[in-house]
Amino acid sequence: MEGLTDGALYKNIMRNLEEAGALINLNRNALERLKIPRRAIVVAVPVRMDDDRVQIFPGYRVQHNQTLGPFKGGIRYHPSVNLSEVAALSALMTFKNSLLNLPLGGAKGGVQVDPSNLSKHELEHLTRRFTSEIAPFIGPDEDIPAPDVGTDAQIMAWMLDTYSMESGFAQTGVVTGKPVEIGGSQGRDSATGLGVVFIIEKALETMNKTISGSTIAIQGFGKVGMHCAIEAYALGGKVVAVSDVSGGIFNGDGLKIPEVVKYVEENKSVKGFPGAESITNEELLALEVDVLAPCALDGVINSNNQHTIKAKIIVEGANGPVTTNASKELEARGIFIVPDILANGGGVVVSYFEWVQDIVWLFWNEDEVRRKLKTIMYRSFETVWKFAQEYQCDMRLSAMGVALKRLETAMKLRGQAW
Ligand code: GLU
Repeated sequence: MEGLTDGALYKNIMRNLEEAGALINLNRNALERLKIPRRAIVVAVPVRMDDDRVQIFPGYRVQHNQTLGPFKGGIRYHPSVNLSEVAALSALMTFKNSLLNLPLGGAKGGVQVDPSNLSKHELEHLTRRFTSEIAPFIGPDEDIPAPDVGTDAQIMAWMLDTYSMESGFAQTGVVTGKPVEIGGSQGRDSATGLGVVFIIEKALETMNKTISGSTIAIQGFGKVGMHCAIEAYALGGKVVAVSDVSGGIFNGDGLKIPEVVKYVEENKSVKGFPGAESITNEELLALEVDVLAPCALDGVINSNNQHTIKAKIIVEGANGPVTTNASKELEARGIFIVPDILANGGGVVVSYFEWVQDIVWLFWNEDEVRRKLKTIMYRSFETVWKFAQEYQCDMRLSAMGVALKRLETAMKLRGQAW
């Protein structure tokens, strides 16, 4: 479908889908059904800016599949957001939620905007208007948004409030990743990064290594990368490099992550952190480390730079950071890649916990959330690892294969696409 399924990321994901489908001999009708999202909503989001000018931002919500349960997936605010990218990310959510054994379908949303250029008032206005435009299509039983690149707990709080104003009563279950004071879950902020670290532990284990003493480079120091660094450091990992949009910092003896976090709170960037060498994002990706965790945007490791990669393991903290071609070339060079739908699943796992807690109005403490998250991440890794041995394939195809098998069974039971 023109505009929807023709972007580079969409094509990459469809290639994985077709390959994994062939591997498990997926029913042809199910395959065809999964190639096209169920519904795509395109809205105009007019915002009266602080200077009184009205600016219109394009907004999207793509609902890919709801065979396993309500649609679920984040909302992204970024200048590069477009319909096909959101559609691709919505398909990834379907596969991620299936793989993780959650009772949820897949969706994604986004607004094409650079949130750092907006005042707080403009950001709130944009969020409220976007929410009210997509309100007829979302809800605690229908479609549950969450944070993604460029959005956070405050934005979820405004979404919750706008949605609740329209329905006339508090609907805390309409979004996840909201502040704990209004029905959020303990541990949701750090969940994706913590999940990445659990997966790093398991990936290292396959090489008879532990995180303690292993060298790690992390691209991105936002919600995912920062918490990944904090947790890896706490477990004794040697985080030698981290970066953000302005560039990276490197220290071969390991960065003192709590100090980097403090520095970033004060300076808004890792740039200039004392006691480290400054490097570019490209240099960070090319470091000789045990683990490289790209935790920023998609497509950062591609055919142009894959030959520079020297890490032993790549754990995809972001969605789609390694293109399909690059992934195959890296695998051929013996680099072990843990794909996004497994590696960064911690976020949506704790979103699921949050949604459940909102339904029963009973809240868990952080230890309980961590323990439950760890169980699911370890178990999912082991399932994908075993499947990869059984089918003699890489972890990306294996993760997709596991996800597709569950979806296929559910589609068959529901009589969908059969
Ligand atoms: N945006 C996150 C992801 O890509 C979390 C989605 C959610 O919690 O619904 O997995």
